[in-house]
Amino acid sequence: MNDLKLTDSAKVDGAVFSNLSFKDHEQVVFCNDKDTGLKAIIGIHNTTLGPALGGTRMWNYTNETEAIRDVLRLSRGMTFKASISGLNLGGGKAVIIGDSRKDKTDALMQKFGEYVNSLSGRYITAEDVGINTHDMEMVKLKTDHVTGIPVEMGGSGDPSPVTAYGVFMGMKAAVQYKFGSDKLEGKRVMVQGIGHVGETLVKHLTEAGAEVLINDIHRDRMEEVSAKYGTLIHEGDVFNADYDIYAPCALGATINPDSIPRLSASIVAGAANNQLADEWRDGETLKKMGILYAPDFLINAGGLINVYSEIAKYEREESIRRTEEIYNTTLQIFRTSELESITTHAAALKIAKERINQVKAQRN
Ligand code: NAD
Repeated sequence: MNDLKLTDSAKVDGAVFSNLSFKDHEQVVFCNDKDTGLKAIIGIHNTTLGPALGGTRMWNYTNETEAIRDVLRLSRGMTFKASISGLNLGGGKAVIIGDSRKDKTDALMQKFGEYVNSLSGRYITAEDVGINTHDMEMVKLKTDHVTGIPVEMGGSGDPSPVTAYGVFMGMKAAVQYKFGSDKLEGKRVMVQGIGHVGETLVKHLTEAGAEVLINDIHRDRMEEVSAKYGTLIHEGDVFNADYDIYAPCALGATINPDSIPRLSASIVAGAANNQLADEWRDGETLKKMGILYAPDFLINAGGLINVYSEIAKYEREESIRRTEEIYNTTLQIFRTSELESITTHAAALKIAKERINQVKAQRN
């Protein structure tokens, strides 16, 4: 009888418990406000290490199922990101359904802040795709459970530059492991998605002497960034070009059975969360093809490390120091993956899960 019920509910749009991306999440909250048009979902995956901290994404999802799937996958990723980075935080994330260029208002963000507040600190928010420091300022009017607020207001500011720096560190570690030197000079890098993180990554890469190709769905962004850094614009399919390193910095799931065979790069290292459409299947395929994958939740942790400084009360210098550690941790993951014949994603996940299990065991 139970099996029948589960199978039936899996067919229903928006199913949560039977959703393939539901992996023992603790709480999923649906927020609906007619006046402001807010439709948001907050996912709290695991709070063993501390309150669930993760950014809010605003995206024009084609349907609600897609939004639920995204929030489930993103919040789970945050659990492991916090753990592997040694932070006392759990994993959570929020998505707001809508076009951030058209539908976002101060009133909508404040209403979202009220919902965050109703969770009494179990979930702490910050920026993600489509959300900026001004939006967090609006959220802050309604709740203290918010990070990534402007520096002028005593916060740590936009986390994206630190995220980009961590990705740069992880990429350098990958280049070191693959080519025996971490110099990026002469390497051809494709940066897909040149938003907050992507642009700063482009800056680091061009300064390091890499040849950078950029790709974005917004032509104005590409022109702006290309004019600033002299990068090459690549329109259309990113898998239809030659480069050494692929840096996904837009949305997730770009590494999948369709894209992997067409990938010319020997390294994947970028900021996007959940780059592997299926972490086990696609991680294995990359490994078999000799493509070195720097686990996303490890190398894009700089922003989380930076916003955590607002809670743990450390200075910007300490955020940068901790973010630089990503270089060594990434190398360690590559070695573990090789020694144990497992994918780099599995190696990173193993370390992250070990810390959570240790804390759980100590508590018990
Ligand atoms: P953003 O909204 O500032 O930028 C995203 C960019 O990707 C935009 O310019 C958008 O036009 C572009 N884009 C969207 N879909 C695309 C597609 N199919 N092809 C090409 N370009 C596309 O977001 P951001 O803050 O720079 O974050 C980028 C990625 O990094 C996201 O996956 C986010 O979850 C992840 N991330 C961000 C942070 C952070 O500190 N902001 C931290 C960790 C992870």
